[in-house]
Amino acid sequence: MKEHTYAFKRLRRLRYNPIIRDMVRETELLKTDLIYPLFVMPGEKVKNPVKSMPGVFQFSVDTLVEECKEVRDLGIPAVILFGIPSHKDEQGSEAYDPNGIVQKAIRAIKKEVNDLLIITDVCMCEYTSHGHCGLLDGEEILNDETLTLLAKEAVSHAEAGADMVAPSDMMDGRVLAIRKALDYKGFTKIPIMSYAAKYSSGYYGPFRDAAESTPAFGDRRSHQMDIGNINEALREVEADIEEGADIVMVKPAGPYLDVIRKVKERFEMPTTAYQVSGEYAMIKAAGQNNWIDEERVMLESLTAIKRAGADMFLTYFAKDVAKWIDKNRK
Ligand SMILES: [Zn+2]
Repeated sequence: MKEHTYAFKRLRRLRYNPIIRDMVRETELLKTDLIYPLFVMPGEKVKNPVKSMPGVFQFSVDTLVEECKEVRDLGIPAVILFGIPSHKDEQGSEAYDPNGIVQKAIRAIKKEVNDLLIITDVCMCEYTSHGHCGLLDGEEILNDETLTLLAKEAVSHAEAGADMVAPSDMMDGRVLAIRKALDYKGFTKIPIMSYAAKYSSGYYGPFRDAAESTPAFGDRRSHQMDIGNINEALREVEADIEEGADIVMVKPAGPYLDVIRKVKERFEMPTTAYQVSGEYAMIKAAGQNNWIDEERVMLESLTAIKRAGADMFLTYFAKDVAKWIDKNRK
């Protein structure tokens, strides 16, 4: 008879000594994981706090440039820009205006902080008077007519100096339309980060305060994904890759870790995730009430997103994470 039939494993052996714990840690947050979302609006010397997102502001171009210097000095490699236009209309024309707010911001940042990667959000909802992500026919969002505008918007961002464009609208065919338009204008080297699996989520609430993009009626369920679906997410991601997406995104992040994992395993593509405003706001609010340890939960939430398979992530905590890394890692 064998002696050790009932022997157990001593997995704690690697957990007693903090040096060993560090050596065997599988997932570590790095500064190169970080993409910082920023909101830009008209005016001068503007730094409006977003009430539902403590620590997040709407900037004018001049204060945005200062913010970008700080972001760069912290070692954060990339920002993503969202525009709040001075003027909204049915066609969202400031989205593709060469003198639109985002285009101005890109040029100003590039002049002063040229070693920061600028990604731009490409969607119509911040620019349309009705707050929807595309052109309307009555209350219906038109798909193919919207593609033309998205392509124009992406090209105008590239012309202003954007390093990467990120379509977030969830219209069918937008990646192909944007890829074709960029290539036609000679921007063959500009990558597309597509919001490939974007869910119709309740976690976006605070963002709409920040970007001032709440729809005037209805919701986004006719283009964003139903929260219960994962096979459909894979079809969405596959379609975007076939159309030419270089990086694919899952949004939101924390409540959709299973989707991130599946997307990463299935497609083996550079994968990103957006820790959205609601995820941030909940951690912030609970932290401010001392109901949780904010720093610890921040690190845990992002480590989980990375562990699930994200190569990088958009997070409003980017500056806090960069500071934490500086303080805690030699
Ligand atoms: Zn939109």
